[in-house]
Amino acid sequence: MIKPWTIAIDGPAGAGKSTVARLLAQRLGYLYIDSGAMYRAVALHTLRCGIPLTEPDQIAALARAARIRFQIAEAGTDGAQRIFLNDEDVTEAIRTPEVTALSSAVSAIPGVRSAMVSLQQAVGAQGGVVMEGRDIGTVVFPGAEVKVFLTASPEERAERRHRDMTARGTEATLEEVRRDQDERDLRDSTRPVSPLISASDAVTIESDGMTPEEVAEEVLAVIDRRRREK
Ligand code: C5P
Repeated sequence: MIKPWTIAIDGPAGAGKSTVARLLAQRLGYLYIDSGAMYRAVALHTLRCGIPLTEPDQIAALARAARIRFQIAEAGTDGAQRIFLNDEDVTEAIRTPEVTALSSAVSAIPGVRSAMVSLQQAVGAQGGVVMEGRDIGTVVFPGAEVKVFLTASPEERAERRHRDMTARGTEATLEEVRRDQDERDLRDSTRPVSPLISASDAVTIESDGMTPEEVAEEVLAVIDRRRREK
């Protein structure tokens, strides 16, 4: 049997990766994996344990010992999935602004990254996954058959995130969202370990003015093209 493909979707916060990756997984009958949720779970754990960022070794030890798992939605369904930290459902708890800000800082710790990358590689080992993040095409699955670097202007990304947060009932002004986004962008793209960069063989999609469905169609066209080339 031919091994199903791995689709890597990377890009900055607010580029629309989650919605597009979920749509793709649905269309392809693949699993959808949100790698950022894993870093968020580590950040929540760190907050609750009261470990300061000045203790990166302790945070890395926490990440290695934590049981982080997804309750994966059936392949090919709408991709709704729950994330568990030590058997507690933390799907909503990892979305607060405090956890969001800390997730970018803990994800810069090399020991945290190596623990999460191993987990991600294990989840995607059989192929048939659409995984979204910052380093999926460069570090986690450098051999992924299709790599997409999805981006949009900082203004549009902040507006989208602000809309999502308002819909979820999280209060924040557009200015606050933009400030947090700029900080995360800078930290994610300048950290020494696995910075946010496009893989050399990734297709870049600028999604300004596009709907998630339009972006997903464009990625499906890339996948079709690759299949014909093989
Ligand atoms: O994707 P999301 O914004 O939920 O990710 C939260 C944080 O986790 C990001 O700001 C980024 O710093 C980090 N992250 C990462 N590598 C990934 C996914 C997320 O460093 N593959």
